[in-house]
Amino acid sequence: MIKELFRKKKYGTININNAENDSKKIDSEYSKNMKKQEKKDIDNDFWIRCKGCGETFSKEELINNFNVCIKCDQHLRIGARERVELVLDESSFIEYDSDMKTLDPLSFPGYDEKIDKAKEQSGECEAVVTGEGRINEIPVVICVMNPEFMIGSMGSVVGEKITRAIERAIDKELSVIIFSASGGARMQEGILSLMQMGKTSAALSRLADKGLLYISVLTDPTTGGVTASFAMLGDIILAEPKALIGFAGPRVIEQTIRQKLPEGFQRSEFLKDKGFVDKIVHRKDLKRMLYRILDIHTIGGGKNE
Ligand SMILES: [Zn+2]
Repeated sequence: MIKELFRKKKYGTININNAENDSKKIDSEYSKNMKKQEKKDIDNDFWIRCKGCGETFSKEELINNFNVCIKCDQHLRIGARERVELVLDESSFIEYDSDMKTLDPLSFPGYDEKIDKAKEQSGECEAVVTGEGRINEIPVVICVMNPEFMIGSMGSVVGEKITRAIERAIDKELSVIIFSASGGARMQEGILSLMQMGKTSAALSRLADKGLLYISVLTDPTTGGVTASFAMLGDIILAEPKALIGFAGPRVIEQTIRQKLPEGFQRSEFLKDKGFVDKIVHRKDLKRMLYRILDIHTIGGGKNE
């Protein structure tokens, strides 16, 4: 059946019944491509291979299990919209700044094409979705980074959307939840990308001055400039199990300090042991946990006074 699906997907317009040679060619192409394909995490529209245990599951099976591996509990990366659906009450989401688009301020070679490809792959305009909604009736402002868009890299638009969302939370006296998933600052925007670290951090400082709560949720991967700014500034910092969380990559660190890094370095569990993370929460429990925190620390999602 997989073979049939593959044929339809890849060779849908070829008439394989009437051309034996073509058929042989297709079979050899098929084996070659299947081998290549097996190495990918996401195989096609129907099957997903878990990068934790290597087992393959149907997309439907995994969706029914919060996109967490049924065998090894690996939390697979999910898109921003799926995350919004997972944590907010149904139909409660009101999106902010959905049409904000990236320009190419430095005329960086190939950047426009990269953005177009990311848009096509993710179906989103940028690497973060922001807005407000409710968690068991408590109103919150949320920002969800999208690992499917240039691995959630932070450029001007990501920083601007997050900053505006925080400012709206200040105006409305609401708590903020940010789900981080990022490869770091976006090099194609140079210093304009790096300054988003300061801008988002300053907005969070103003939120804190107003006595409003900020919950940071770290998901796989949270790295680079995002780790060095808003991801680590949460009043409460949660993380999904086994998420990669760090600033520089392990190889760079090993080369710099000339030491072998300990087992599990830069994973949620290690960071919790070292005090960077307050709690590791399984995806299926995430909404309940966020609700409990909001309920304890706020009055109707706003100030705790
Ligand atoms: Zn697995």
